[in-house]
Amino acid sequence: MESTLEEYIANQEHLVRQAAEAIPHQFTQCTYNLGALRQPVYLCITCKDPRGICAACSVACHTDHEQLELFPKRDFRCDCPTSSLPHPCSLHKTLESPNSSNAYGQNFTGAFCRCGREYDANTERETMIQCLACEDWFHESCCNLRERPSDEPDAPEPEPASVDPPTLDGQTVPSIPAEDNDVDDAASDASSSGLPPPLIRADDYDSFVCAGCVRSIPILTRYAGTEGCMIVVRDKPEDAWRVYTPETPKTDIEVAESDALPGSKRPLDAAAEERDAKRPRITCLAPAPNPIAQQILSKSNITVVTEDACPQGTGDVFLTEGFRERWCRCAECLPQLEAHSWLVKEDETYEPPEDPESGLSLEELGMRALNRLPRERAIDGIHAFNSMRDKLVGYLKPFAQEGKVVGDEDVKAFFEELREQQKKGSA
Ligand SMILES: [Zn+2]
Ligand SMILES: [Zn+2]
Ligand SMILES: [Zn+2]
Ligand SMILES: [Zn+2]
Ligand SMILES: [Zn+2]
Ligand SMILES: [Zn+2]
Repeated sequence: MESTLEEYIANQEHLVRQAAEAIPHQFTQCTYNLGALRQPVYLCITCKDPRGICAACSVACHTDHEQLELFPKRDFRCDCPTSSLPHPCSLHKTLESPNSSNAYGQNFTGAFCRCGREYDANTERETMIQCLACEDWFHESCCNLRERPSDEPDAPEPEPASVDPPTLDGQTVPSIPAEDNDVDDAASDASSSGLPPPLIRADDYDSFVCAGCVRSIPILTRYAGTEGCMIVVRDKPEDAWRVYTPETPKTDIEVAESDALPGSKRPLDAAAEERDAKRPRITCLAPAPNPIAQQILSKSNITVVTEDACPQGTGDVFLTEGFRERWCRCAECLPQLEAHSWLVKEDETYEPPEDPESGLSLEELGMRALNRLPRERAIDGIHAFNSMRDKLVGYLKPFAQEGKVVGDEDVKAFFEELREQQKKGSA
């Protein structure tokens, strides 16, 4: 054992550096002091209460708790240092009063989508799509983009060879891939899940808004099913789902109602264009409402997906690239857009700061994990600590290299293994 330990120590610097390069973020600062912001939020299942914690707290404070990554949530303040969670925060030591402005949707009870299913990274085979408005996650099948795949993992699959995996520009509509929780690498896993491509592929649109949100936002109801705001429809329950293609070419409206005089050129300089874009227009350039979309959206919100709840479609909207520039900004439309800032400007999402001192974050991670072990499990002595740290780094390295999120179960598994080894070593 001694020689192995020396080897560990000799290799340690190198390994720690490698691992730190692969996990470049530091998880030493709880975001509580930054207030409410759009940030990746984690649900601690062990702590039970339906509250959300920041990425740093998920690593530092709830290390050996079972957690569920909820991905970015808007206007969210970390609950870890507040009295609403029984577990003390190890990063922000002042006990704060419960957050009053956080919204806790159904994701905080572990339920997702309009079907309310739980999310299990190990069994979920469909890509899930995040609603730009409510930030809940939806199954492709629940948006009528595909059939619900069989839950049988061994069911025969169609040959996926001809499917190129759609890539996602990802910031606004990350998917939850079946086996990889990293939003940046998120792709509609058409090929890796063995499923045929969805009716609308991830790179065919920029953002998704669920029907419930479309219904509650008049400007989106108005635009649903028009050019660049795709909806999925069918005429009769026995028909296949299709993407609705608007019949009216939008140039008709533009020519007829444009502010510009016929034949006059649009100003070319950027400043003038920007003034133009900001000044409310007199004439409304919003396209004529799509009658099918209006009919679908006039029905009350569908919470349970049934055949006859809304046979023509759900009313979900898929916004294509550049949608924020395309809205009509007339005096009537502009205030409706500005009521939801993310319709006019993409949200910024907080990321933990880059780690300035390469090598420290994992060391601290190991140290914290060690400190949190119950006394009887704690490992004494610097040699043992070095060994433990090195093993932890080695254990975490593949996660880092693959960009995988280290889950609590992973850390737990590591310590379990370590305890087993210790038992054997001391016996
Ligand atoms: Zn926090
Ligand atoms: Zn916890
Ligand atoms: Zn914390
Ligand atoms: Zn669903
Ligand atoms: Zn929504
Ligand atoms: Zn308008």
